[in-house]
Amino acid sequence: MKVTIFGTGYVGLVTGACLAEMGNHVVCVDVDQAKVDGLRQGIVPIFEPGLEPIVKRNHASGRLDFTTDPAPAIAHGELIFIAVGTPPDEDGSADMKYVLGVARTIGEHLDGYAVIVNKSTVPVGTADRVRRAVNDVLVERGAAADFDVVSNPEFLKEGDAVEDCLRPDRIVVGASSDRAVARLRKLYAPFNRNHDRMVVMDERSAELTKYAANAMLATKISFMNEIANIAERVGADVELVRQGIGADPRIGYHFIYPGVGYGGSCFPKDVQALERIARGHDYDARLLAMVEAVNADQKTRIYEQISRYFDGHLKGKTVAVWGLAFKPNTDDMREAPSRKLMEALWTAGASVRAYDPEARGETQRIYGEREDLVLCDDAYDALKGADVLALVTEWKTFRSPDFARIKAELGHPAIFDGRNLYDPRAVEDAGIAYYGIGRGRSL
Ligand code: NAD
Repeated sequence: MKVTIFGTGYVGLVTGACLAEMGNHVVCVDVDQAKVDGLRQGIVPIFEPGLEPIVKRNHASGRLDFTTDPAPAIAHGELIFIAVGTPPDEDGSADMKYVLGVARTIGEHLDGYAVIVNKSTVPVGTADRVRRAVNDVLVERGAAADFDVVSNPEFLKEGDAVEDCLRPDRIVVGASSDRAVARLRKLYAPFNRNHDRMVVMDERSAELTKYAANAMLATKISFMNEIANIAERVGADVELVRQGIGADPRIGYHFIYPGVGYGGSCFPKDVQALERIARGHDYDARLLAMVEAVNADQKTRIYEQISRYFDGHLKGKTVAVWGLAFKPNTDDMREAPSRKLMEALWTAGASVRAYDPEARGETQRIYGEREDLVLCDDAYDALKGADVLALVTEWKTFRSPDFARIKAELGHPAIFDGRNLYDPRAVEDAGIAYYGIGRGRSL
């Protein structure tokens, strides 16, 4: 099929590449000229496992192209996807200017019939707003084009995005037109061969489904962090509690890891946006407000522990930080807990030596050159001249470190394990003080 995608970020680029891989002809549109130029030369601007070869292969075969020119792209697409950002507005609501901007652009160039598919995470009622925005421009132009708007929220996880896109758990389609649903069924048929994963519903339910999914996942994390904070105070080990509760199939082991709080481009903004949506409909979503509040506190946990360890005297100290990305297998630093930690350390007069397998460039882009930040080439290099070590992102490469080497390098051998990655006894047997999250001992 002929597909057009607005936005070549994590969602747009992965979706475009995977749809091209299935044999569709995909044109991706972005306003960022440098990104488009790079993609045309096979330069993938984000780190996402498995993405680069798919982009290169399909671009070379002519099934995947990139442009900044919306007119031919809109003429091309039987299906036109909107996959642009919906960042938080000043009050935490989703900022709709990019989505509605694309809707107007579609209105300016549309001829004939197309299905407009919204993949961005958007407030309930956005399908109606997109419909009105496109229609207003068509009326201004006096154009007789026809279209349907469908909500098709995206559930891919950064770090696993290609796999999630090729093998989705479910494909949620919110639509009020049979013609549009039929087109999406045809497009998604290759992803549906094992069993029917398409869940068809009305547009508003589809829009809310995306927020509900992310709010549920964020709630699980904040819940476990709350239990961890209780565990720490009562002398229990939350890692044992986690296994004890996960064994109940109604709870399950997935996504109940305590840690340094959730980050990324989705959970923080989507929980906030859902809370604002509820408020806009005269409902006070108290649980969501608490999920956010617990998370905000949790992001300060490692810093507080390190500060107490040095009795508040952080000036002149150096902290080695392992992991900068908001989670493993991505270079995404949006709302990453590492940023809260580093910024608090700098404010207190401490320096950071950091290592991350993929997020070095992104960190440099955000913070530029500064004397109190050294970005290192490997994990052990980050320990050189450092006083203590903070583990922030649980990349596989950090799982089985050489504790003897860590002890030898650190000025004050102590590990602040923000992901409960290590066995406290093994660390202590190596002569290193261990501080995890909710593991029965705190500072
Ligand atoms: P992103 O910030 O990585 O990419 C957005 C892209 O859109 C950018 O390249 C930007 O230049 C481009 N853009 C902006 N205005 C444009 C316009 N008028 N025309 C063409 N391109 C334009 O965003 P993302 O992470 O891919 O997220 C996109 C949407 O998908 C958001 O609503 C997000 O909440 C949602 N989402 C993201 C994820 C994720 O893991 N990142 C997962 C599911 C859903």
